[in-house]
Amino acid sequence: MRRAMAEAEVGDDYYGDDPTVRALEEETAEVLGKEAALFVPTGSMGNEVAVAVHTKPGDVIALDAQAHMITVEERAVVGLLRRRFQELAGDRGRLDAQVVQRALEAHDVRPAMLEAENTFNRHSGSIYDLDALRSLGALAASVGARFHLDGARLWNASAATGVPAASYAACADSVMVCYSKGLGAPIGSAVAGSAAFVKEARSARRMFGGGMRQVGIVAAGARHALRHHRDRLVDDHRRARRLAEALAEMGAFQIDPLEVETNIVMARAARQPDRVPAFVESASRHGARILAFGGPGAFRAITHLDVDDADLERAIVALRAAVAETWGTPS
Ligand SMILES: *Cc1c(COP(=O)(O)O)cnc(C)c1O
Repeated sequence: MRRAMAEAEVGDDYYGDDPTVRALEEETAEVLGKEAALFVPTGSMGNEVAVAVHTKPGDVIALDAQAHMITVEERAVVGLLRRRFQELAGDRGRLDAQVVQRALEAHDVRPAMLEAENTFNRHSGSIYDLDALRSLGALAASVGARFHLDGARLWNASAATGVPAASYAACADSVMVCYSKGLGAPIGSAVAGSAAFVKEARSARRMFGGGMRQVGIVAAGARHALRHHRDRLVDDHRRARRLAEALAEMGAFQIDPLEVETNIVMARAARQPDRVPAFVESASRHGARILAFGGPGAFRAITHLDVDDADLERAIVALRAAVAETWGTPS
């Protein structure tokens, strides 16, 4: 990946003249089955660009209450762009079209945009059923809303189910994907959709200050990741399940290993949840880096391409030691 970046041919992407960025955008659009794609520096900017194109100030965006667009991007979407959220309750983040329809009727709102996240970050990488996503697309169309898919980890959903990324993407008007999460590129995301959408998205990206210059160096890393790092995601998923099973055996956590289908492992302290920050700190000292995340008493662990089987076993040993140090050995 570093060699591809060093050798990348570049141009001024602000004017659409960087051949490496163009190639990445074309390959991404092809994998997603969309007419076009636009390279953006972060997934957050990709989502914001979609919001800017699909909606106008005062418009309502309907989405699960735990969605990244709310938990992380609210200051951009509400604060800067002046859109409003209609919070919905999904099943581990996954929206059901009938439930959404009833909620919209009950609150008497007409959203301009519906948003879904696949896989769902704050619910240990839960995966959308393809038919459920299709129904959401149909519902959005029937109420005159645009449907945006936050696919920061769409590659993980695909690897876990065998459903092509393009099949998920086909449900939505626009889709955001990250090269920088599971795929392991240092920087970069994309938004994809119709050619008309991407033309407007290019202008919206400029508004956010995301029009970059000789960015082919970065795009080359993303292109390498797109080509070479998708097939290996199943290894991350297998290791995440193994980690979840090991955590369940430690007796200190609420966790259902069967809910771990992709690369995100989330657990909650079974007792003394206020000690989770100390647990995270202890785990780090023992050599396993995890994150206090998902509310009080919860934490998240991620498997990724820099963690092999031996690393994972070392992490499990470290976490076991941290459990003993934090909560003592179970009696
Ligand atoms: C990480 C993430 C994003 C945003 O990506 P950044 O590159 O960190 O801005 C968007 N949606 C979800 C679900 C994510 O996990």
